[in-house]
Amino acid sequence: PVAIVWLRRDLRLSDHPALTAAAQDGALMPLFILDEQMEALGAAPRWRLEQSLKSLAADLEARGLKLILRRGDPRAILTALAQDIGAVSVHWSRLYDGGSVARDTEVKSALKEAGVSAVSHAGHVLHEPWTVETKTGGFYKVYTPYWKAVRGADVPEPIGIPDLRAPDTWPESDALEAWQLSADMDRGGAIVATHETAGEDTARGVLGGFIGSKVEDYGTARDKLFVAGTSTLSAHFAWGELSIRTAWHAAKRKFDETGSADVETFMKELVWRDFAWHLIYHTPQIETENWRPEWDGFPWRGDNEDAERWRRGLTGEPIVDAGMREMYVTGRMHNRVRMIVACYLTKHLQTDWRVGLKWFEECLVDHDPASNAMGWQWSAGSGPDATPYFRVFNPETQAEKFDPKGIYRRKWLDSENSAEAASYFKAVPRSWGLSAAEGRPPRMIDLKDGRQRALDAYQEFKAQG
Ligand code: FAD
Repeated sequence: PVAIVWLRRDLRLSDHPALTAAAQDGALMPLFILDEQMEALGAAPRWRLEQSLKSLAADLEARGLKLILRRGDPRAILTALAQDIGAVSVHWSRLYDGGSVARDTEVKSALKEAGVSAVSHAGHVLHEPWTVETKTGGFYKVYTPYWKAVRGADVPEPIGIPDLRAPDTWPESDALEAWQLSADMDRGGAIVATHETAGEDTARGVLGGFIGSKVEDYGTARDKLFVAGTSTLSAHFAWGELSIRTAWHAAKRKFDETGSADVETFMKELVWRDFAWHLIYHTPQIETENWRPEWDGFPWRGDNEDAERWRRGLTGEPIVDAGMREMYVTGRMHNRVRMIVACYLTKHLQTDWRVGLKWFEECLVDHDPASNAMGWQWSAGSGPDATPYFRVFNPETQAEKFDPKGIYRRKWLDSENSAEAASYFKAVPRSWGLSAAEGRPPRMIDLKDGRQRALDAYQEFKAQG
């Protein structure tokens, strides 16, 4: 018998309950479908997906298996393929955003109708969203009580790679290159590549290095913009090259040995990721609507020229511009700076958080629908557990505190160092009168004025009740 494992954001072989269950049912047919959701991803995540698929295909090949690639509607593809090859079952790892839940429900019923067993499995998070409940039986809207509820809860130990048997024959597969997933990264795919390595082996190496020593300083180093103080695991988690349970148990072992508060801080961050998936499952509108509907009347500005300057790192606010360039060039941005640039866009520039969310979706190699939506709504003040709108980060004070010597800002802003970002300037409208050679633009908006403008808009909005 042959069993299909339908891979999505779980591009790994180890600690993979769905793949393990399929391998137990028979010879393994690993399948990835480029569906509507994947097609809609931004340039950087699509580029990153290609790297991940290449790596997984190589890992499978080393074991005598293939990764079958198909493009289109998963319902049609899975039912036809299952029938063509006489598959006994289809397995996949559950995802919890609204689009995935709707798609997977349809796929499941189509497969059942076609007489094929369809089984979904846990594997993407530490705790599935419906397993963590408040005392009154609802879901958590605030992080700290959520953390308290799960910190001591059992997380299954990671499982190894099962015995994998190849089917006797392989069906046709698309060629990965034909999908052209990196086509829109002409602005710097090659550059991002120098900062980013994909794949399960890399991910395990990064985890080992981090837990081996760096995690011991995580509590303080994570906020210093001028050191590499965080794990850089986010893109590996976003594509499932590393299971979150593997990371949790590695950290937990270290915590049990050392009792270190730094290690616990790291474990709390892993749980922030789970919390984002908890929220997106219980309130799927978090991706597109103000989580607090009372914000619906807020006079956010839609996309505008100030936002375009924000995207290009030309606001004249050094820490904001440095962060926007870091993201453009590397596909990542430091968490502290993500908060600073998001606050600046939604408050100083009065621009709708969805404009920012979209640009992050275009540029982040670690793009994750749950964490991105939670991060933006938190920063804008419209989300659950959000920072209140009137708490406006001062980017200058933040920069002095977290980048006191200007090392991070210089790294991304100095003309000598920004050759990497030079292509970015080619498309700047002439009317802005700016070019890379002319150095830094002046501040678009005085920080005091920007803060006051945000507070005035908020007061007026509140007064209208
Ligand atoms: P570490 O500090 O080493 O943390 C370890 C892991 O914990 C991360 O890999 C991540 O999985 C998780 N984590 C840490 N912080 C958060 C957080 N605030 N929310 C959720 N999970 C967290 N993260 C994404 O993975 N994808 C996104 O699309 C994304 N968009 C964001 C947008 C905004 C506006 C903000 C403020 C934050 C966003 N984050 C997002 C969260 C966070 O910035 C990144 O997870 C973090 O910078 C990744 O770096 P790291 O792996 O070195 O993190």
